[in-house]
Amino acid sequence: MYYYSTNGQSPKLDFRDATILGQAPDKGLYFPETIPQLDKDFFTRIAAYSREEIGMRVMAPYTGTTLPEDVLLGIVSETLDFPLPVVPVHDRISALELYHGPTLAFKDIGARFMSRCLGHFVKDRRGKVVVLVATSGDTGGAVANGFYQVPGVEVVILYPSGRVSAVQEQQLTTLGGNIRALEVTGTFDDCQQMVKTAFADTALTDRLFLTSANSINIARWLPQQLYYFLAWQQWQHKDNPPVISVPSGNFGNICAGMLAHLSGLPVTHFIAACNANDVVPRFMQKGQYEVQPAIATLSNAMDVGNPSNFIRILEMTGHDTGTLAAMMSSVSVSDTDTLSAITKVYAGEQYLLDPHGAVAYLALQDYLRQHTGTEGLFLATAHPVKFNTTVAEATGMTVPVPDAVKAIMAMPKQSTVIAPDYEALRAVLAD
Ligand SMILES: *Cc1c(COP(=O)(O)O)cnc(C)c1O
Repeated sequence: MYYYSTNGQSPKLDFRDATILGQAPDKGLYFPETIPQLDKDFFTRIAAYSREEIGMRVMAPYTGTTLPEDVLLGIVSETLDFPLPVVPVHDRISALELYHGPTLAFKDIGARFMSRCLGHFVKDRRGKVVVLVATSGDTGGAVANGFYQVPGVEVVILYPSGRVSAVQEQQLTTLGGNIRALEVTGTFDDCQQMVKTAFADTALTDRLFLTSANSINIARWLPQQLYYFLAWQQWQHKDNPPVISVPSGNFGNICAGMLAHLSGLPVTHFIAACNANDVVPRFMQKGQYEVQPAIATLSNAMDVGNPSNFIRILEMTGHDTGTLAAMMSSVSVSDTDTLSAITKVYAGEQYLLDPHGAVAYLALQDYLRQHTGTEGLFLATAHPVKFNTTVAEATGMTVPVPDAVKAIMAMPKQSTVIAPDYEALRAVLAD
């Protein structure tokens, strides 16, 4: 399998090289040359397969000859070694809970898969690979955890001081070892700018092998398909495939689900549920794609003004708005409605939503009301405890802290405070 750049100006690469590079040199995103087709039988008999078998079926065509079968099997089983349950919430709505991993967010799945792939690919290199990443909160923890103790890889994470939650900061700063946390006395945008400058600094990249672990990397994007297949395995009414609602920011998650569907996975319709950052909902309505500065909301992991993976969605629907609209709708949900959904669903069903899941829940409920006979799933992407303040405000109750989080909260924070300018970062990297 080869991957081409969506900008069409860079050479095609295999899974290994596209993973190591991350983004194509022409600034496009890598996209598979063909979409593998899984046979009908696989979907009707899916209950008989183990998670590992499903993982292998789905991922092997993408990794091709770059990963031996036993290596891929090891990576798949480590990626999926926590529960990913479909939980009924009421009548026609279930939650696919993706937050039972080590950092309590769905990003654990992509980060675990990618870290192990990269670890394998750089095993025989002399010298270390440095993974450089800026985070506004969730990505950093998942990346730190995923890459922790992966041989040959050093991780440097930049985060804005005082602007991530207490749990998130602990997840970033307490591991030590090959994980280095830089606490930048500026904003997330400063962090991102510093990272971009580092990648463009050829004097640095000549000496240091730098790569990124953001969500456009195919090794983070493609394995996100897996839980859509595992949801289908658990889906009760195989004669009535689910409408799937995905809380969306950078659109990597929903785009993976749509790719799974194009491989044959039965899905009735996709909903891209957004917060006030409504570039895509407006595009679907008016046909114009207008980038906007990100607006801060309660579902902050979705505060994205220019979703980087949307280009992949256009690519897989042949840049045809009719094809896209038949497969996916997109709506914007306000903070007020998000809060009241958390309140209502807790009062009515004793089910706790986090703000991201709540956005997807509301969008799904609305769609199902307008389409009789349909049933749906929404993706619960973060554990409610990660957004304790909001959840307490909406429900009047404090989420019990899981043991894993208690342990992290008690560990000493290790971070290096640096100024929000590139020279400060360069000094650390040169060291
Ligand atoms: C990152 C994130 C999202 C958005 O996912 P995308 O793939 O960027 O659309 C949604 N919810 C949570 C909790 C996240 O951390």
